[in-house]
Amino acid sequence: MSEAEPMVLCPFNSHHVVHKSSLQRHILRCMKNYPDHEVCPYNALHRFLTKQLLQDHMMDCDSKMKNELFFANINAKVKKDAPMFTEKAGNGEIVGENWNED
Ligand SMILES: [Zn+2]
Ligand SMILES: [Zn+2]
Repeated sequence: MSEAEPMVLCPFNSHHVVHKSSLQRHILRCMKNYPDHEVCPYNALHRFLTKQLLQDHMMDCDSKMKNELFFANINAKVKKDAPMFTEKAGNGEIVGENWNED
């Protein structure tokens, strides 16, 4: 039942249709024909022929979500272990609140 395997388009050339499991191998081979491609910072398998295409893609890259979750977790950990600011700064002034009060 190998027919069940999803087919995907090569990011460089939409005439290249490859099995999803072979995409990485195909890209490694095919990228040599397209030396000026742009690589998605979130997933090295996402490659684009122009910066514009890459930027469009980065808006809703499916790997970006995972990355942001990953970084969010790191930030949460960092904040817990080493607070960015100290709550008891000293002079007791509260700044930036109650702007509309009058
Ligand atoms: Zn290709
Ligand atoms: Zn991507």
